[in-house]
Amino acid sequence: MSQINPYFSQIPQSYLFSEIAHRVAKHAAARPDQKIIRMGIGDVTRPLCAPVIQALEKASRDQGEAVSFHGYGPEQGYPFLRQAIQNYYRSLGAEVDAEDIFISDGAKSDLANLPELFSLDCPALITDPVYPVYRDSNLMVGRRVEYLDAVRENQFLPLPDSSQKAGIIYLCSPANPTGAAYTRQQLQQWVDYALEQDAVILYDAAYEAFIQEDLPRSIYTIPGAEKCAIEICSLSKTAGFTGMRCGYTVVPRALVREGHSLHDMWLRRQSTKMNGVAYPIQRAAEAVFSPEGLAACRENIALYQSNAACMARTLDQLGIWYCGGKNSPYVWMECPGGMGSWEFFDKLLDATGVVGTPGEGFGKNGEGYFRLSAFAAPDQVQLAMELLRNWLTKGD
Ligand code: PLP
Repeated sequence: MSQINPYFSQIPQSYLFSEIAHRVAKHAAARPDQKIIRMGIGDVTRPLCAPVIQALEKASRDQGEAVSFHGYGPEQGYPFLRQAIQNYYRSLGAEVDAEDIFISDGAKSDLANLPELFSLDCPALITDPVYPVYRDSNLMVGRRVEYLDAVRENQFLPLPDSSQKAGIIYLCSPANPTGAAYTRQQLQQWVDYALEQDAVILYDAAYEAFIQEDLPRSIYTIPGAEKCAIEICSLSKTAGFTGMRCGYTVVPRALVREGHSLHDMWLRRQSTKMNGVAYPIQRAAEAVFSPEGLAACRENIALYQSNAACMARTLDQLGIWYCGGKNSPYVWMECPGGMGSWEFFDKLLDATGVVGTPGEGFGKNGEGYFRLSAFAAPDQVQLAMELLRNWLTKGD
């Protein structure tokens, strides 16, 4: 007789964004006349840039010729891509060895799978609110999850409490959903704490490319991080790769726990359970890091940043509290009139057709807040802000 994993009953029945999609589909069926403006799920809308498409086309043609055909690739990813990423890290002020870089099919799977390197007795410390993958993937396998309050009083950037024991620590900066980003001095506190506790930080840098202020874009710009941190990054938001699937994870060889190299363990795990990322995708990813690729991606990011600025201006005019938007594509706003976050979701959708993400979906501290994503087309963002303003000021 098969027995199902009992821990599935501990997680919400559907993934947050599936629930949103379900409610939006229901609404759209009932109101076919109303245009839906999607500012909920953080999916990009700008197409891939020309250097990426050229590399993708060429690599696809390579696959059609015996002389240039590529079958299974190297376990950690092709050296050409790992070298390009090492150079990129250098431009961010971080020294990362290409040997320590693992190419992945995106950040989500690595964020969910990395805890396999640790005993189930080792709890995961995560912030609340948080990107739900950290929480659900750990609960799903029966790992204990402990929460750290991210609230307005600490600018949604909780710091370590030296009286609290930690094993695995998830940090995300700039954070999803709040858009808050740690300073160098705050990240140093986390690194010092992890070293003191022999804990390991899983540092999600998926939104590093959105940082505009003088803030760290990699945890490896912080002294000591190579001995206590794994960094997970993605081309999804940096280069519009949500539908391409490519990211990278750095597991430094200097990271050793109980005499075991986490780098070697991760290589063992990945080579057992994964067969790498497609050759054309890795060539396309390499093109992201070329001077032309980086410049084109910056243009797209600048466009999303101007969307975020438009949202921030509207909320300023409406006198609504918010954070984020500056170093992040997300604006984290307080729901007006003391509304609950699902209540605001439903009312906003009903009145304007605008879809956002209810803060409660990211954890209990998200109740009363709402996340707007800046990834929509500029005219859609402007329209959404106009509709929001009209609705809230005129009661339309
Ligand atoms: N990490 C954070 C904080 C995210 O918000 C997302 C996607 O929205 C991811 C990781 C997933 O990225 P990927 O598309 O590379 O799996």
